[in-house]
Amino acid sequence: MECYTNNKKIVIAIDGFSSCGKSTFAKAIAARLGYIFIDTGAMYRSVTLYALEHGAIRSGIVNEDEIIRLLDNISISFRFNPMRGASDIYVNGDIVEGKIRTIEVSNFVSAVSSIRQVREKLVAIQKQMGASRGVVMDGRDIGTVVFPDAELKIYMTADAKVRAQRRYDELKAKGDDVSFDEILENVISRDHQDMNRTISPLRQAEDAIVLDNSYMTIEQQMEWFDREFLRVQNSLQ
Ligand code: C5P
Repeated sequence: MECYTNNKKIVIAIDGFSSCGKSTFAKAIAARLGYIFIDTGAMYRSVTLYALEHGAIRSGIVNEDEIIRLLDNISISFRFNPMRGASDIYVNGDIVEGKIRTIEVSNFVSAVSSIRQVREKLVAIQKQMGASRGVVMDGRDIGTVVFPDAELKIYMTADAKVRAQRRYDELKAKGDDVSFDEILENVISRDHQDMNRTISPLRQAEDAIVLDNSYMTIEQQMEWFDREFLRVQNSLQ
């Protein structure tokens, strides 16, 4: 499409609810534009996994002081994986991509991500990664906190049952033994925690545009994106 040549490099911020296909959408946009895609949820998941593996979450109890203490030992990086067409996430040089999307990590990630020091560390890395623009970043606070000056802000949502079904199908396909009700409960509870936490709650930025993809295919979402991207590029001329 003509709009993808000679355009100004921008930051595209995608925020929204759990499991509404933000990463799939963001990845497709980044591939189309030749932008870097950053899944910030994977960063919060990686800290949660590290906390679980190092005894800072035990018997369902999240030890905040211990997590804050562990933060200095955690170094997060991304490396592009051409097989997936996206970057894999690494903690201290070890790939954790395959371990961060379990229901166990999902059950604790909202509690871990509500710790101020965790957010400060990860937001600083995210700002640095998007400093030269040309990034598509997805998360909960990208358009409000990480890049309030993003040129294009998208707020994604979808019906909770549709989202739970997508996550259920994904985990089942990987061979995980999960129930639909357990996933639905996790999706609803994470939305609640993410929207009601004190620091950087999930909010639609005033200048964000809403995309409800409950009944849209990825192709339809990309058509929608093309129009919005063109609109933003025209406004920057
Ligand atoms: O996007 P994903 O569902 O993988 O994110 C996992 C969790 O990480 C969210 O439920 C939220 O608690 C946290 N998160 C966040 N801020 C972000 C991205 C994710 O608090 N920017």
